[in-house]
Amino acid sequence: MTDPLADPERNNLAPLACQYCNTSLQGKRRYAKFCSVNCRVNSHRQDVGRVEAITAQALIDGPMRNALIETGDLNPQDEHDAEKLREAFTSMCRQFAKKYA
Ligand SMILES: [Zn+2]
Repeated sequence: MTDPLADPERNNLAPLACQYCNTSLQGKRRYAKFCSVNCRVNSHRQDVGRVEAITAQALIDGPMRNALIETGDLNPQDEHDAEKLREAFTSMCRQFAKKYA
């Protein structure tokens, strides 16, 4: 290999693969750790333990739905509307998180 960037140990450079998706970082700036803003953000989310995209279907069962109606986050006539359920659940989670912030 003639490319000096091809051997990071010998050249004592930063890792040459994205720390999130492992894509080669050849051609990026010398100390880049990630191939893209996306990977930097995703890696950070992983670090802080953020959980993405929980589906309403998986989490909102009967008792949860009743609780959402009870707390006033969900109108009883909206209980079969998946989008409204998600909104109600999200709103309830925010209030819950606020309480313990
Ligand atoms: Zn990447």
